Amino acid sequence: MEIRRFFADPNDITGDEIVLSGDEFSHMTRVLRYKAGYKAVILVSDGKERHCTVIKIENDRAVLHIDKIAEVDEKHVSLTLFAGNLKNNKLDLVIQKAVELGVDRVVPFVSDNCAEKKFSRDRGNRIALEAAKQCGAVYLSEVEDIVTFEDVLKRVSEFDQVLFAYEQNRENPISKAAKGKNIAIIVGPEGGFTRDEACRAEEAGVTTVTLGRRILRAETASIVAAALALNGLGELDYE
Ligand code: SAH
Repeated sequence: MEIRRFFADPNDITGDEIVLSGDEFSHMTRVLRYKAGYKAVILVSDGKERHCTVIKIENDRAVLHIDKIAEVDEKHVSLTLFAGNLKNNKLDLVIQKAVELGVDRVVPFVSDNCAEKKFSRDRGNRIALEAAKQCGAVYLSEVEDIVTFEDVLKRVSEFDQVLFAYEQNRENPISKAAKGKNIAIIVGPEGGFTRDEACRAEEAGVTTVTLGRRILRAETASIVAAALALNGLGELDYE
């Protein structure tokens, strides 16, 4: 039987036991038909894997015994992706690939050239949860509510560095630019950024970067920018 991975909250741990409830409990019992005695790996986004055995299954929760704790992944850097909202749920693909790559947080935004204003945070977090389990992540990435481009610029000072991927920019390749511990990348929507938005971003203190001479689709640009930034930070090395 495949040992499946489930995310819980650190508060669900008491001594050498963990209680799993909510959607993850439903997935464990209704979808995967788990029973007492089954094995599971429980993650609470602290860099550790807790290898567990199900002790009992009640009607709204499962109690597991922690058999072994494995230190798996020290977090050296944090990467936030601010992504212009996209049509036809194309952000689903961006969220899934960003999580696989190790992006910690995805924040959609609406800017002048955004055709789509609506975004479902719950849908985004469901995609992030499934991607985190599939890729063996030990940290659960978060998808935030949609914000305005102004909101994004107000948050620039939260980071050591914010890499602004601007399609009109021809210098400063992203892989050479990424440095710091807590960084962010900003990628525009299908319609790109206006010159005014690019100027306001510069004033807010971003580092404008290029992704090369070709104009990438927005979803391609987010995935490539995340990969290059993380690689530049050593996060794609296997420790
Ligand atoms: N509609 C625009 C392109 C938008 S591409 C046009 O045709 O000019 C969507 C987003 O991807 C851009 O806003 C930018 O953030 C990013 N992007 C795409 N190609 C890029 C490149 N070569 N350099 C930097 N950013 C790029």
